[in-house]
Amino acid sequence: MSIAIAIDGPAGAGKSTIAKAAAKHLGFIYVDTGAMYRAIGLYTLRAGVDPQDTDAVVALLKDVDVTLARDEKKNQLVILNGEDVSGLIRTEQVSMAASRTSAIPEVREYLLSLQRDMAKEYDVIMDGRDIGTVVLPDAKVKIFLTASAEIRARRRYDELIEKGQSVVYEDVLADVIERDNNDMNRPIAPLRPAEDSILVDTSELNLQESIDLLIKTIEENSK
Ligand code: C5P
Repeated sequence: MSIAIAIDGPAGAGKSTIAKAAAKHLGFIYVDTGAMYRAIGLYTLRAGVDPQDTDAVVALLKDVDVTLARDEKKNQLVILNGEDVSGLIRTEQVSMAASRTSAIPEVREYLLSLQRDMAKEYDVIMDGRDIGTVVLPDAKVKIFLTASAEIRARRRYDELIEKGQSVVYEDVLADVIERDNNDMNRPIAPLRPAEDSILVDTSELNLQESIDLLIKTIEENSK
């Protein structure tokens, strides 16, 4: 049987980077479920549909095909209707669209089976918002990875500046807080720690320390 590690937590806690490094170290396949929601957010924006217009978004779903692939370095690629959109989904606009469309039950249902199928086939470290609570409730280890909103906004800001995007810290912080609110207060699959999850707070840790702590936590709890 395959082994699954669930990692949930708010936007910008460094989940992707930290979980990806831990997966590499432990020989697991890393699955970034946020990227799947982002692909749907991008599709919605391209179609000129308001991400909050549930009926219109649901109507689009029949034309959407999201799959995950790997490049030669085993990095995850997100394929939207045959197009590799991995480089296009990391903007604030797509973040917000993903956060909005992810509150729609039909969107979640569509991605849920895809995510469960992957965990059936491979040993995975899967990161998202509802992996330990909804997608993989029997995961071997569940981790809730978090950091303060200010620290998360600062990290996201640095990342965007490095990519050459022009952003203001206060705007990034406001976005982080708004996305937290959307993710925590939606009626379906809200962001919350699973009861049997282990809290890992990276506010005071640098990247390498965070990766080491995550690996240690997984190793100690998967015996
Ligand atoms: O993790 P990331 O920031 O890339 O996720 C983008 C958005 O997708 C989140 O704000 C969240 O609303 C949504 N999401 C979700 N459930 C997941 C993963 C992401 O609702 N498992």
